[in-house]
Amino acid sequence: SYRKGGYHAVRVADQFAAGRYIAQRKLGWGQFSTVWLAYDTKTESYVALKIQKSAAQFAQAALHEIELLSSIADHNPTNSKFVIQLIDHFKHTGPNGQHLCMVLEFLGDSLLRLIRYNRYKGLPLNKVREICKCVLTGLDYLHTDRGMIHTDLKPENILLCSTIDPAKDPLRSGLSPILERPEGNTNGGVTSLIEKRLRRRARTAVAKISGRRASMGGIGDAAKTGRNIDGIDVRCKIVDFGNACWADKQFAEEIQTRQYRAPEVILKAGYSFSVDMWSLACIAFELATGDMLFTPKGGQGFSEDEDHLALMMELLGKMPRKIATGGAQSKDFFDRHGDLKRIRRLKFCPLDKLLTDKYKFSVNDAQEFSEFLLPLFDFAPEKRPTARQCLQHPWLNYMESPPNEMRNESAVEKVDVGMSNLKIRVEK
Ligand code: ATP
Ligand code: MG
Ligand code: MG
Repeated sequence: SYRKGGYHAVRVADQFAAGRYIAQRKLGWGQFSTVWLAYDTKTESYVALKIQKSAAQFAQAALHEIELLSSIADHNPTNSKFVIQLIDHFKHTGPNGQHLCMVLEFLGDSLLRLIRYNRYKGLPLNKVREICKCVLTGLDYLHTDRGMIHTDLKPENILLCSTIDPAKDPLRSGLSPILERPEGNTNGGVTSLIEKRLRRRARTAVAKISGRRASMGGIGDAAKTGRNIDGIDVRCKIVDFGNACWADKQFAEEIQTRQYRAPEVILKAGYSFSVDMWSLACIAFELATGDMLFTPKGGQGFSEDEDHLALMMELLGKMPRKIATGGAQSKDFFDRHGDLKRIRRLKFCPLDKLLTDKYKFSVNDAQEFSEFLLPLFDFAPEKRPTARQCLQHPWLNYMESPPNEMRNESAVEKVDVGMSNLKIRVEK
């Protein structure tokens, strides 16, 4: 992918935007871009530099992402504090073409890594509450203030706020190339000699921080110091606006990552803000249990979509006929009575039972958590609470009772209640 139209190859200490940003180390990459930790010589702080592939369709996608991120950043910064902030953007020309670059605030590890770090056991419910509050506050801002739907909410797209500021790190001596900059020369134009020294300097800096790599996001830090998950501050932000859209100007019919996809998207019945609420509920369950809630699989005689709908109904009860038959795609899955065509006998297992039987929640915890989640899983999208309404839910402000803390330690063995093993496939 490092060819014409593809990624831009970055070396440590490379400069961007006429010397304002200096590359430190790679943070990650995706389908569209590579992301680097960079030092911002203007603000003397660390940023994440997202460098898009150069081909036209990637540039187009970046312009779209920049448009949405700019709207987020332009308005009321206090309300938007649980959403990633765009600091700057510019074009960078390299051997593979012209790359749009986004400068974003530097964040830590994703919730997916947090779940993995906790060995898929599920986080203490107090942590789940904290994360939900952050995400809901971010969603309320996006939905109510900006009229924007994220459409790809999932653990990978929620990043923890970095607990260690690299600039305040005791190892920072040598970390900030600006120390080497001649006075008054803050905006490029450095001589090649200084440039060479900067490169050398930044390389040393990277060697120094690479030993502490894991500490950047907070999780590895807890691992090293032997602290458990309770030592991790769970403030987090919503990221990745590459697929986001305006509620009144939608682009894609098929949205969301499979496991977090709302039923109206599968049925092609139109969608709005409430698709993000469905995803949020899936995420909350996953954080609390360590397992994805819906993992549909296609099989003989039925599709992944139909399995997905079956799993939803096994957990939430039968979909009302009007909703089941109301989408442009409904006929592929449902007969006119609102029964699935190919998956006939559903094995119902209500959410609170799943939580007590499989995940060893106390009856109380299971009930309270279900009361929070079930309204978000309403098959009627317009009946789901909004992010703002959801923030008022008492569950978000419950105090954790000690037995539940123990639940997490004793729930290593999960009992499989075999939710959907008993499907009967009907060949057409
Ligand atoms: P995708 O294929 O997911 O759309 P993408 O090319 O749009 O990928 P992102 O998902 O935005 O790229 O970023 C790629 C990776 O870089 C992320 O998974 C994350 O690990 C890291 N990253 C992105 N933004 C930041 C940030 N602000 N701070 C720290 N790391 C980040
Ligand atoms: Mg991504
Ligand atoms: Mg993306």
